[in-house]
Parts: sequence; structure tokens; C-alpha cells
Amino acid sequence: MVTSEVAPVITRFAPSPSGLLHVGHAYAATIASRAARDADNGRFLLRIEDIDIGRCRPEFETAIVEDLLWLGLQWEEPVRRQTDHMDDYAAALAQLKDADLLYRCFCTRAQIKAEIAGADRAPHGPEGPVYPGTCRQLGRVESDARKASGAPFALRLDMAAAIGRAGPLTWHDQTRGTITAEPNQFGDAVVARKDVPTSYHLSVTVDDHLQGVTLVTRGVDLFEATHLHRLLQALLGFGPPRYAHHPLLMGRDGKRLAKRDHPATLRAMRNAGVKADDLRAALASGDSERLHTLIDVAEGATDANHRP
Ligand code: GLU
Repeated sequence: MVTSEVAPVITRFAPSPSGLLHVGHAYAATIASRAARDADNGRFLLRIEDIDIGRCRPEFETAIVEDLLWLGLQWEEPVRRQTDHMDDYAAALAQLKDADLLYRCFCTRAQIKAEIAGADRAPHGPEGPVYPGTCRQLGRVESDARKASGAPFALRLDMAAAIGRAGPLTWHDQTRGTITAEPNQFGDAVVARKDVPTSYHLSVTVDDHLQGVTLVTRGVDLFEATHLHRLLQALLGFGPPRYAHHPLLMGRDGKRLAKRDHPATLRAMRNAGVKADDLRAALASGDSERLHTLIDVAEGATDANHRP
């Protein structure tokens, strides 16, 4: 008998434990879970993106698990927590360093701001003004001396060298089709921060590869980030997953639900008596009014609790 082997669809939801999950997270999580469930042998993973050590808290990680279980989601164990895998990011950095694609950057935010303000041309990238490349000019002796003096530094990717090494790249977005990668818009991106020896972009690229993720579902706000992730994959020798960037949920005021001024957390909804089944159905229906009605219940209860 001939068996045809179809690669399983492996998706993930990757929240940061820096606050309570809100309705936007529930939307993203259910999209990832559904994509796995709808596929033969699909697998849905959970990853805790906690490298931002200043903002992440263990109690939010506990709350994420509780809230996702309340929502009725099931994922494969073990959950991958990024801070448990710093060795993996160090190995990726060593690979980029050996390829001579990294340099130390000692600049402070204020120095970068001042440099940009004084420049004739200051290109803007997806994450703000592009770093002007100041520390790229530092000679090895100077860079080593500053490091030896204990000056904190980030590691930046030499974008021109990286693109030269990787050559032209494309990636696949489920809605928009084949996309030409344009990582250049990020300039010399930080791959290891001053306070933690990795970055969002590096960790996500390494983790998706090591977890075998085949379909990355995430909000369209991270569409541009994929250009950079595609470059990092090529430099590290990883095959690209496919991507599905979904729209973001908006409040009635047209603002992103993810923003702080919407207290539409899953916790608030649950405490206000919203049923998980109703929330799931509203999320799946694509009917924003249905969703807003449920959010109103949570907001009404929150207001009532805070009435003097
Ligand atoms: N941790 C990111 C967030 O909470 C998601 C990263 C991703 O899906 O690639 O927005």
C-alpha cells in the first residue's frame, strides 16, 4: 500500500505575559487553533514570549493558560517559554556572528534620536526611524575596548551584508500570495538587545523553526516583520513557513481592541458572566456588532464595579 505523506499543519499562538489577554488575543488564538483543527493531523502549539523581562510577569502567564482554557482551546504540551531557551538564541547569534553579519551597537536611544534629528535624510521603517548605522563604522579595537570597559551594547544585523549574503527572497501570505521580501526597510535591525541577549525578531524566527511551525497566523500589524523574519530564516538555513496575516479587531470607535483603553479582557468578560461559547461564536461569525455587544457586557460590569 502506498501512503502519501502530507506535511501536517502546525500553528501556534504566541502571547507575551505582559498583561491579561483581551478579545483581540482570543481572536488570534482561535484563528490559529482553527487552522490546525481544520487540517488533517493539524497541531496547535502555545508559546510564551517572555523575553521582555521588564514587562513580563509569571502571574500573567498563569492567567493566559487559565483564560485560554476557559475559551475552550487545547494545545500540545509542552508549552515553549522563550526564557527557557536562551541557548537556542545564542546559537543563532553565533551563526550570524561567524558569518560576519553582526556588529555591536553602544548607542543610547537619546544618541540615536539626536543623530537622526541632525541627518538630512532619515528614512522611516516599520518600527520608526531607521538606525543611521553609527556603530557600524567602529573599528574592532574601539568596539572591543568599549565592551571591555563594561559599556552595554546591542547586536545589530548589518543589513546590506545580510541581504548580499541571502540574495533575493520571497515568502507566501495566504491572502496576498507571493511577496518579495524587503527587509531593507528595517535598516540594521537589533537582533540582541542591551538588556536581554535576543530580540523579538530573532526569537520568533528561531522558535517557529524549532517548533516545526508550518503556518504562522498573526495580526496584520506584524506583516512587515515577516520581511525581516524571512531574511533571518535564510541566513540561519531555515525553510520558511507559510503566513496568514489576519485583520485586527476594531472597537466601535475604530480603534484597535488591543489598545489599553479597551478593558475587553477575557477575565473581565468571564467575571461579567459572558459565556465562552458565546464569545467563540461571536469571534467565528465575523459579526463585529455581536462581539461589541459582549464587550459592552464586560465594560458595563467594570464601570459598575468602579462606581463610588
Ligand atoms: N508575541 C507577539 C504578540 O503578542 C506575537 C508574535 C507573533 O505572532 O509572531 O504580539
